[in-house]
Amino acid sequence: MSTPFWGPDFDALQQQDPEIAGVVLSELDRLRGGLQLIASENLTSPAVLAALGSTLSNKYAEGYPGRRYYGGCQVVDVAEEIGIARTKELFGAEHANLQPHSGASANLAAYAAFAKPGDTVLAMDLKQGGHLTHGSKVNFSGQWFNAVSYTVREDSELIDYDQVRDLAREHRPKIIIAGATAYPRLIDFKAFREIADEVGAIFMVDAAHFIGLVAGKAIPSPVSYADVVTATTHKVLRGPRGGMILSRAEHAKAIDKAVFPFSQGGPLMHSVAAKAVAMKEASTPAYQAYTAQVIANAQALAKSLEAEGMRAVSGGTDTHLALIDLRPIGVTGSEAEARSDAARITLNKNAIPYDPAPPMKPSGIRVGSPSVTTQGMVESDMAEIGRLLGRAVKAEQGTPAGDAELAEVAEAVSALVARNPAYPRP
Ligand SMILES: *Cc1c(COP(=O)(O)O)cnc(C)c1O
Repeated sequence: MSTPFWGPDFDALQQQDPEIAGVVLSELDRLRGGLQLIASENLTSPAVLAALGSTLSNKYAEGYPGRRYYGGCQVVDVAEEIGIARTKELFGAEHANLQPHSGASANLAAYAAFAKPGDTVLAMDLKQGGHLTHGSKVNFSGQWFNAVSYTVREDSELIDYDQVRDLAREHRPKIIIAGATAYPRLIDFKAFREIADEVGAIFMVDAAHFIGLVAGKAIPSPVSYADVVTATTHKVLRGPRGGMILSRAEHAKAIDKAVFPFSQGGPLMHSVAAKAVAMKEASTPAYQAYTAQVIANAQALAKSLEAEGMRAVSGGTDTHLALIDLRPIGVTGSEAEARSDAARITLNKNAIPYDPAPPMKPSGIRVGSPSVTTQGMVESDMAEIGRLLGRAVKAEQGTPAGDAELAEVAEAVSALVARNPAYPRP
């Protein structure tokens, strides 16, 4: 190859730092050798990885295109301008900021744009699927703000919109937040908008998990309802690890100032460029088909786990993830996580709504389809994964029979991923 690109040179890494080169190869082996069912993960494209591993990482570019605090930004300006234009077009947003380093950083900036320490924010309870940045006591959001939490209904396990309205009327929050990390269903953005309007609150959607499904037009968009939408770029959206903020034009200045200089310094321009690449990829019919398949696969996986005796919280999923209650089979989330791991299936233990068990030993697991769908798997593969996962989580690890069963499942997983490899070898 004769491109003038001066980028990822793995031979150089192996020569200069074999220890870290070994880690990079081991991680690639891990990705290739097993099933990744972590709902917040995906497998980025080689094009995204090339932008990430480029000399754009070197450039200091505090500020925004055309208004930088450093010279020499003409080139990186182009990447950010293209990225912003693609993002606005893809989501029909009036304003986009691609500089947040992560989803948590995007949330910090969004809070800062609209609230002062001590103000009240209303968001989903962490124990029921909300995020750390939605008012947890160990996070800035819970320490700097008066965080009030809404929950799901105990019967339906769906967001209790009546309770959201009651809490909003009682506490008069500055910001009302919709969006979660472990909620498998669609969110009624219109209902939230009406509640926010009634109490004069800013309506913020934390779309970290599902923004990729919105990009693929597989689920309804929050953009026309929300004042501000925060998101990650590395989950279903399949871009580089990072964050972004979409907003109405009237909030553009406040958002930009809250990202830089309020909460961040120089942007990661290699990551901004990689976000632009991801937006281009997400604008294609192929990506739209991918997101539709992601949902079909999550639904098929939830069904097959129910056939194994487990219970899908809320009865199923409309998105890329399912929350699985393991109590019907008498297994804890931590046991299921460890057993699956031994069978080369990676997932995470997760609390279920109204979980009677402690957080470190919750009653459930969360499973997601973004990575396996990127590998080309379809509903029939999900049915097989469900059967394998059923065998794995029921195997009594530590007993000879259980360990033999886990080894057998691991073999079957290897055969399955060999048919649909991650990062196939050229
Ligand atoms: C993943 C996630 C975040 C945080 O993203 P990071 O990039 O890990 O900081 C924020 N909010 C929600 C709802 C998420 O699911």
